[in-house]
Amino acid sequence: MEAIILAGGHGTRLAGRLVGVPKAMAPVAGKPFLEILLCQLERCRCTRALLAVGYLHRVIKDYFGGSFGGMKLEYAVEETLLGTGGAIHSALALARENAVLVLNGDTFLDADYAEMLRFHSEERATLTMAITHQADVARYGGVLVSGRRILGFEEKCRSGPGWINAGAYVLQRDFSWPSALGERFSFEKDFLMREIGHLAPAAYEVKRFFLDIGIPEDLDRAQTELSGFVSASPDDGCAASRRDSHLGKLRTIFLDRDGVVNKKMPEGQYVRSWGEFHLLPGVPEAIARLNQSGLRVVVVSNQRGIARNLYTASDVETIHSELQNLLASHGARVDAFYICPHDDGECNCRKPLPGMFEQAVAEFRDISPTTSAMIGDSLSDMEFGARLGMKTILIERSPGRQDPGIEEARALADQRYCSLTDAVNALFKPGRGSWSNP
Ligand SMILES: [Mg+2]
Repeated sequence: MEAIILAGGHGTRLAGRLVGVPKAMAPVAGKPFLEILLCQLERCRCTRALLAVGYLHRVIKDYFGGSFGGMKLEYAVEETLLGTGGAIHSALALARENAVLVLNGDTFLDADYAEMLRFHSEERATLTMAITHQADVARYGGVLVSGRRILGFEEKCRSGPGWINAGAYVLQRDFSWPSALGERFSFEKDFLMREIGHLAPAAYEVKRFFLDIGIPEDLDRAQTELSGFVSASPDDGCAASRRDSHLGKLRTIFLDRDGVVNKKMPEGQYVRSWGEFHLLPGVPEAIARLNQSGLRVVVVSNQRGIARNLYTASDVETIHSELQNLLASHGARVDAFYICPHDDGECNCRKPLPGMFEQAVAEFRDISPTTSAMIGDSLSDMEFGARLGMKTILIERSPGRQDPGIEEARALADQRYCSLTDAVNALFKPGRGSWSNP
């Protein structure tokens, strides 16, 4: 894989935060932001990165030199200002592969770019654009998507949820640019805005973490939210796959909810509202630790109280949105919630059946059982994980528990801990626990 990173920006809106460095070198958790992007590319098995540099380009060249881990670095230096479009155009002339990934040097998207290139090729597209879903598109401007194609941009004044341009593209090396553009142009304003209607770029949907460091508030957020992606040193290569090497291949943690995240109600009773939802101690900190290590956190919860008309799916959504707000105040997040609203025998999604795992795979294409672990407090959780071939971790909740199924659950579990906190702490202890290398 070959990639171009647009690293020529000044960072005018970050004035005061950047002393003698261009925007792509903005410090994030003690490292230049560009290093996080290079780590990510290396993890996606990129072999050559073309850095389109301009303003203070010496700073970038002096820091990174000619290689990063196993990746060759080359520089396309703008002697005169070319704009983002002109910079892509001139860097593409140095490319060798037919399809080239192009990244903005000031946004982070937790995407699998190798997968994005495969998508581009399957779609036989000349241009593919990564899009990401945001709760409010007002700051960015939304994109209009139909099927797998992008049809245009929305008016910038619209607010509310929608898809936005995530600042990552795949372009064919021999892309034919409109001749009217000249040498200097903005890729977004002069090219995409005008041409998107007839180009209809392929839409590569990414429902994972996205951050634009262009304004001071988001640069502040990046300090904690991207810390898990920061490598120890550039020579070590890819941080993301190595940053906690004892985590082994683990990429996704499936969490049961009741009894793991929040206090479980007595058998036959259900959490029907946020008022009845009592978070267990240490849970936000444990989830934040998983987030910071780049592990995906997915909640899978059986909610048959919905089938029994004790509460509605919308009540559960409200609980999860309140939970997400509470977690956010501790710097933690759940990447996705899946619930089964059915009773026994009605569906394929009530744990231990695999439906919620299948929903997660449909949304996050890189999820695999061999890189996942299931943490739950009941037999159905252990069966769900074990049947799929994941590592299984039983949360005992209290010593000497004697409820039905607990002995079988213990027999199926790879590891047993009293709480989510203990399970996560064990995960981060090098050399401890047989589930450290799933
Ligand atoms: Mg449970």
